[in-house]
Amino acid sequence: MVEACVFCQIIRGEKSADFVYDGESVVAFKDIRPHAPVHILVVPRKHIRSINDLLEADTIIVGEMIFRAGEIAKGQGISGTGYKLVYNVERGGGQFVFHLHLHLLGGW
Ligand code: 5GP
Ligand code: ZN
Repeated sequence: MVEACVFCQIIRGEKSADFVYDGESVVAFKDIRPHAPVHILVVPRKHIRSINDLLEADTIIVGEMIFRAGEIAKGQGISGTGYKLVYNVERGGGQFVFHLHLHLLGGW
């Protein structure tokens, strides 16, 4: 856990968020500034800065993130119409929160 990290604060319950999933290694909550009718962030409990910082042992977490995004998409009723899964990596890749997260965008 990193003190000043906004996603660590949400995971610790110090900052509120609209959770759609709360699991052992991964959580998911609605993006505060949605870019799509459905915009959910799938976030590992473990603080990892970005895809650049993954260890080989973290591949299980990334698999869980992608699997969970698919399950949430089904739950949100957008799996049939389709959706995007996006990892922004570092500033040039559009990353502003440096705690790994997967954007689930859909519902158009
Ligand atoms: P990034 O650009 O780093 O890939 O995406 C970070 C996302 O986190 C943005 O879409 C932004 O709207 C969202 N975000 C930033 N701060 C908060 C927050 O405090 N709560 C929630 N729910 N989303 C946040
Ligand atoms: Zn963090």
